[in-house]
Amino acid sequence: MLESTNKSTAINSIVEAVIDTSCIKSNLAAEKLASSSVNRWSVAEIVALFELPFSDLMYQAQTVHRLHFDPNAVQVSTLLSIKTGGCSEDCGYCPQAARYHTEVESEPLMRLEDVLTAAQEAKDNGASRFCMGAAWRGPKQRDLEPVLKMIAEVKAMGLETCATLGMLKEGQAEQLKDAGLDYYNHNLDTAPEFYGEVITTRTYQDRLETLDRVRDADINVCAGGIIGMGESRNQRAGLLAQLANMERPPESVPINLLTQVEGTPLHGTEELDLIEFVRTIAAARITMPSSYVRLSAGRQSMHEGIQALCFLAGANSIFYGEKLLTTGNPDAVTDKNLFAKLGINQAGVSQV
Ligand code: SF4
Repeated sequence: MLESTNKSTAINSIVEAVIDTSCIKSNLAAEKLASSSVNRWSVAEIVALFELPFSDLMYQAQTVHRLHFDPNAVQVSTLLSIKTGGCSEDCGYCPQAARYHTEVESEPLMRLEDVLTAAQEAKDNGASRFCMGAAWRGPKQRDLEPVLKMIAEVKAMGLETCATLGMLKEGQAEQLKDAGLDYYNHNLDTAPEFYGEVITTRTYQDRLETLDRVRDADINVCAGGIIGMGESRNQRAGLLAQLANMERPPESVPINLLTQVEGTPLHGTEELDLIEFVRTIAAARITMPSSYVRLSAGRQSMHEGIQALCFLAGANSIFYGEKLLTTGNPDAVTDKNLFAKLGINQAGVSQV
């Protein structure tokens, strides 16, 4: 107990040092910032953040947030499934895996015109980024060609572009970059030691290699995970440590709450307490102060009070629209009403 109290106090000091601008020029915070070791978080340190009294955690997360972002602005992305279902992988949460019997019907790659119509709608609804998702293990070259056209045309409409197409082979990230891709999403999903409980058809290392390819091609990295899959708090902290300790943490960090879909292996998993979810958002904000932390899948099951706590904890990006690939999402009107209640500005996110 004493050890954990000491640990908590130590974490408080680190966070306070980092957030106290008056001491940035001197002491520990300056050293951590100068040496980039501000990004070096041990799992134990992140667990200690989770264990802080809720008000202290929220205060620290909000303070870090205000140092890096406009606190009343939330970036809005729209996600479109451009190729649905029939995936060869076995991700235990995913209704698009061909091997699970779910209500998702396989659909071929969408036509370019239909993608552009959806992108225009997203833009009209205030989205600044348009994400295109395809249920593949990874794109074959013949799959990639039409997607490159989609990216180029969506970019020409004045939207930021994002794609999530699975694992990338050598050279593919460069092609995506040349087409105008701004962000590539590839989630780590969970901590390395829990990963094998969820997915067996690709390794953690495969995922890290794809993220390296994206980074090397100078595309912004979008990588996060899914919470509530039966992992422990240590493993939630382990996921955040993986992300925060990357040489450059992802620019965008989606934190998903497991959406349980009947027919998938994770259906029936014990529900996560939503305060623990808010704590995860806060810990992500503190450990990755300059990243956009995205409140992603699972929002449809959250009361607006919990969503408000997530924004207070430092979430500053959401997916907008009725569907997230294949699962539900609050509709645009509901989101607009919530933003109005909270005084959130969806257009003007800026980093400070
Ligand atoms: S999460 Fe992606 S890779 Fe995994 S089964 Fe679903 S579509 Fe396939």
